[in-house]
Parts: sequence; C-alpha cells; structure tokens
Amino acid sequence: MIVSEELAKRLLAPYGLPVPPGEVALTPEAAAAVAQKLGGAAFVVKALIPAGGRGKAGGVKVCGSVEAVTEAAEALLGHDLLGHRVARVLVEKAMPIAREIYAGVVANSATDRLDLVVSFAGGMDIERAAQSDSQAVRQLGVEPGDVLPLHRVRQWLRQAKVADVDLEALARVLVTLYRAAADLDANLLEINPLAVLADGTLALLDCKLEIDDNGLSRQPELAEVYRQSLSPRELRARELGVSYVPLDGDIGVITSGAGLGMCTLDLLKQQGLAPANFLDTGGGISESLVKGALELILEPPQVRGAIINLYGGINRMLEAAKGIVAALQTISGKRPLVVKILGNQQEEAWAMLEAVPNVHVIRVVQTEAAVSKLAELLR
Ligand code: GDP
Ligand code: MN
Repeated sequence: MIVSEELAKRLLAPYGLPVPPGEVALTPEAAAAVAQKLGGAAFVVKALIPAGGRGKAGGVKVCGSVEAVTEAAEALLGHDLLGHRVARVLVEKAMPIAREIYAGVVANSATDRLDLVVSFAGGMDIERAAQSDSQAVRQLGVEPGDVLPLHRVRQWLRQAKVADVDLEALARVLVTLYRAAADLDANLLEINPLAVLADGTLALLDCKLEIDDNGLSRQPELAEVYRQSLSPRELRARELGVSYVPLDGDIGVITSGAGLGMCTLDLLKQQGLAPANFLDTGGGISESLVKGALELILEPPQVRGAIINLYGGINRMLEAAKGIVAALQTISGKRPLVVKILGNQQEEAWAMLEAVPNVHVIRVVQTEAAVSKLAELLR
C-alpha cells in the first residue's frame, strides 16, 4: 500500500521528526485559509497525487503570499498531473533550503533486511546523480532487528566527508527514520528532499511511504485507509484470503504461489495474451477458496478465457476441482478455461474436470503446454 504524503508525514511527526507545519485543502479558498492560519511570508502548495516527480512537472509551487497560494491551488486542483487528477493539495510553510539530501529506508528482499540509503546529492535530480556517480549514493546494510545504533550511523556518515551538514543531527534523524520504517512495516520510506535549512537544522520536505500489506493488521488506522483504497473485487479477495491484482488485458489468471504466477504471466505474454487479473491462492487450497477465486477472475466482462495453474503439494486437489465445478455452475457463458493442477489426488481432480464443458485439463508439468492450449482455443 502506498501511503499519501500528508498521511506519511502525520505518521512520522510523533517520532519527533521535523515535518513542516501544513494542512490539506480541497478548494483554493481552503488553501488560502490554511496559509492564513500558518502565517509567515512563504508557502508551498503541493499536488497530492500518488506519483513522484511533481516538482519538475509543476506540481509543487512556492508562493510568496496568501493570494499566490489561492492561485497555485486554482492551477492545480481539478487538473491532470502526471496522469492523475489532482483532488487535494497540501499547503505547508515554505522552508529556506540550503541543501537537499536523499534519505531512504528500503526493504531488501534478497537479504530480508532494511537498508539505510543516503545521498548528499538529493533533490529532484537524484536519479541522475545515482547513475552518474556511484559514490553519490551510500547504502548501509543493517542486520535483522529493529534497532540501528546511533554510533554506527555517525561513523558511517563520517566516511562521506561532507561539509556544511550537522552529521550528529543527521544521524539522529536517520536512526529515527529507521525505527519508524520498522514500526510501520515499511517496504520503503523515502525522504527526498531531507532539507538542510538556512539555519543548519533539518526538515522532511517530501515523504514517500510504502507499507507491507501483511503488516496492516498491526496498523489499525492505516488498515482502514487501505480498505478504502481497494476496489470491491480486491476487498472480496482479501476476505477470501487471496491476493487479487487487476490488470489491463482479457485473460483471467489463478496460480498458487507468486513464482508460478510470474512464470505464467511471462508465458502468456510470449503467446501474445494479456492478463485481465492475477489471483494468487497462497498455500491453502480448499473448495470454497477456489470457487470464490474463479468467480472473481471471471467477473470482469472483458475476460474471454482463463487459466488456472495450481501446484498443490499435499493439498487435496480434488477439493480444487470441486471448487471449479461449483463456480462454473453459477457462471454463464462459454469462455474456455484451461486447468493445470498438480498435487495430491491429481488424477481424481483431472477426471472430474474433464467431464465439464469448456474446461481443458492439462496433465503435464509444463506451464507452456497450458498457455499454448489457451492461446489455441482463443485463436
Ligand atoms: P517531488 O518532485 O514529487 O518529489 O516533490 P517534492 O515534494 O520533493 O518537491 C520538489 C522540490 O520542490 C523539492 O526538491 C524542493 O526543491 C522544492 N520544495 C519542496 N518543499 C519546499 C519548501 O518548503 N521550500 C522550498 N523553497 N522548496 C521546496
Ligand atoms: Mn521528492
């Protein structure tokens, strides 16, 4: 789940991290009222959209008066930016920036750790800096566990040999960011820019936060926000205990396990077929789960065929077959369904499914065979 910038900042502020004061506005009048309330002579109006690169696209406007805030909000609200309609802006007190640092806490799936990443060439050109100068981005791998000792970060930062930055203050902010990322089950927490202000203090001007969906049960406030962001179909998948990803194509896809899923999606693509969705059953396969899953993936009207690719292991695959039969009883239409099922009771499952019209059973291990069959049926 991607957490919006203002919610991310709201979650970080209680850790004592320096987040600029500001509020969300839905109209230009409300934006002006926020600026009025914040006081001071300079404000920033930011389009709240789930995309980076807003600065370069004109989605971040620094304003020198309340009137300018109104105009900036008028220019952003209701308009399209980077493929998103802007419905909300964040109005903040502008900060006098002396230098921009990039700070990130990134889940590293290869090592199952959270890594701390810092670049002193932060700001809007971070990608270019990372490409042109490998020294510009420094990464600190951290052993599993939530505590990152301050002295280690301090020592690490000293190697960077930067002037003009209070490394002690920076080390404290980084350790706190790290703790917050661990607390929030973040896959990614990115502060860019982490600004060094004219007086030498630090401020988190932008924040990108992605939270592991599995960690949401520990975050009741976020879990509610997350639920609201899901489509009805995604919600039903969650209730079933499976993950459902809507896609742009017209082929329904069910697999057991993400690895088999990726392989199936790749092979579909090779055959010129585009998935309409992707449903991963996870490890548990029962009649009711498979019935619900099949009903879900066949539901979008553009779906013209589907593939079920299950490797059940010790799961009883006859249950899966019963689920498929039960789902097809409630679904009308003659769309071809290719089923490749392997595991406990596979022969019984095949026999049951081969008796069902429009269902094509693949009795071999290779997913290629199932995908070619589907391509042939749809030709
Ligand atoms: P992004 O482009 O989507 O990552 O949006 P950011 O929130 O990072 O804003 C882009 C740029 O706007 C930053 O790199 C800053 O240079 C600038 N900016 C953001 N907030 C402030 C602020 O409070 N004061 C000033 N002067 N510039 C800001
Ligand atoms: Mn940014």
